[in-house]
Amino acid sequence: MKKSKETVVGIDLGTTNSAIAVVLDDGLEMIPVHGQPTMPSVVGLDPAGHLIVGQAAKNQSVSAPENTVLSIKRLMGSDETVALGGKSYRPEEISALILGELKRAAEARLGHPVERAVITVPAFFNECQRQATLDAGRLAGFDVARIINEPTAAALAYGAGTQGGSANETLLVYDLGGGTFDVSLVTVENGVVEVRSSHGDTRLGGDDFDEALAKLAEDRFEETDRGASGGISPVARRRLKAVMERAKITLSDEPFAAVHEEFLTATAHLSTEVARSDYEKLITPWLEKTLDCMQRALADAGVTAAKVDKIMLVGGATRTPIVQELLEDRLGKTSRHEINPDLIVAMGAAIQGAALAGRPAPAILIDITAHSFGIGAMMGGPGMFMPVFGCSHIIRRGTPLPVKKSKLFHTVYDNQMEVKIPVFQGESIVPEENLKIGEFWIKGLSKAPEGNPVVMQLEIDLSGLLHVTATEKATGLAKSVTIDTAGHHRLNLDAARTNLAALFEEDDALAVGDDSDADDDEEGSDAEPDADEPPPGPTAGPSQPSRPELLASAKSLRRRAEAILVREISPTDAAEIRALLDASSTAITSRDWPALQEADDKLSDVLFYLED
Ligand code: AMP
Repeated sequence: MKKSKETVVGIDLGTTNSAIAVVLDDGLEMIPVHGQPTMPSVVGLDPAGHLIVGQAAKNQSVSAPENTVLSIKRLMGSDETVALGGKSYRPEEISALILGELKRAAEARLGHPVERAVITVPAFFNECQRQATLDAGRLAGFDVARIINEPTAAALAYGAGTQGGSANETLLVYDLGGGTFDVSLVTVENGVVEVRSSHGDTRLGGDDFDEALAKLAEDRFEETDRGASGGISPVARRRLKAVMERAKITLSDEPFAAVHEEFLTATAHLSTEVARSDYEKLITPWLEKTLDCMQRALADAGVTAAKVDKIMLVGGATRTPIVQELLEDRLGKTSRHEINPDLIVAMGAAIQGAALAGRPAPAILIDITAHSFGIGAMMGGPGMFMPVFGCSHIIRRGTPLPVKKSKLFHTVYDNQMEVKIPVFQGESIVPEENLKIGEFWIKGLSKAPEGNPVVMQLEIDLSGLLHVTATEKATGLAKSVTIDTAGHHRLNLDAARTNLAALFEEDDALAVGDDSDADDDEEGSDAEPDADEPPPGPTAGPSQPSRPELLASAKSLRRRAEAILVREISPTDAAEIRALLDASSTAITSRDWPALQEADDKLSDVLFYLED
């Protein structure tokens, strides 16, 4: 029991996601919740009326919005309530459910009760909002040791104020999450970390980007569909948003994201591709707004850009490359992104917790690449008289591992059917100044005019192995090699907390854009339903419908179910229908015909009772 008093966990109670961390004898540890380092801040009731918190609740938010509460943090400190299962709840209560889930995860992990916690809040939170957070913590059974500001926590995670207090620094913490944005000027003086100014927008974040992408996809869908399948239902629109969030995440590492969503309407699928450049144009107005906030925060703190010592990135949406680029461009210095932006706030809270528990500040161990990696290519661009052969970087020094990045290149002459690709480790764009760590050929490219796109993907796994893949975009022809960077070229995996803010040169590579290649875990480009596959044949049994029949019946049932959903039906019936629609689309996507049959049968039963 004594042990539990000595443990003070750190909690990032976020609008979109939450996380919990702790400092133990052997260092800082993120506590997994349901097997993941972060947990969606979502609470819901499943169709049977059971409480669900986290990913399970997020999963059903598309099909059962009336039984799901999202973004409760926005209401903290207000008297507004939310409805769940016919009852209303205060924001503190919903937040307490989230905190309770984190507490249980910590207790399961540590094997003893966890009572004390440091909880973070945005710097702009007022007294009521802080009080509400404290109450939520107490309600969840915590003794809240302290409420600290999120930017302070981020600064602590980078070691500010914990190194004997000698360094005096000015830090800019740029936090772009799912639903909120804030930027703070934090100073560290004699070991004291203080937020000097903070500005933001509580309605700006990755969610807006998802909406914009969903709108783009919907417009494209409508353009090809021309109303033939009766337009997109509200349920389908929510599905589209979830799909486009995945596409957005892909676009942080890849130049293109393939999007395939089956049965967006009862009869039509969506199949499109979004380029990173289109996405960047789409979100630029929001990003400009964040830069305006940043200028105001600087002005309020009386600090010029030149006086900022470090830029720290917090929040999942800062993984979008253009966010970093714009910020670095505006401030004229590189940003720190070695610590996972989703976890940094919880880590800082845990460090504060450790200090309160009398433990020494731990070092945060992060596996990063100690070098940049790139390939040899002809490079040109504005201001360059003629193309020169250079090293075009694909993975930047200081990137946390594992990492997978791609970039788009083009053949340089007509009918170029093979390319020799040298792979380099080092920071220079001059190949000779880097270490050449391998070379390989990609042969058999199509006979095409110059400019034939080839996607180069570099991946470094946790063991420091570099995997290189070149793929011809038009045909999918791919060639892969693995280069062992161990031995004397070994990546420095122990370079935790090394100051890597040193210059990351801007990538003025030849690459016009970026790459393609949907992630391995995304739906493949062949994700068509196999309606045209041959039926299973006469052995399927007399009463067994053929596959095309099964799909046709599924389509018709889905259409009828979506029609019922827009009518006034009870929340329970609506939830049941949505769950069955989900089961049916999962079965179609995974080609699980018995499961589709089962979903069809159940849907048919429900419709029998509900249809006039
Ligand atoms: P947070 O509120 O900090 O948990 O951030 C959540 C937001 O970050 C959501 O809008 C996510 O879609 C977004 N996000 C997470 N990972 C990425 C990524 N790799 N690229 C772009 N956005 C991301």
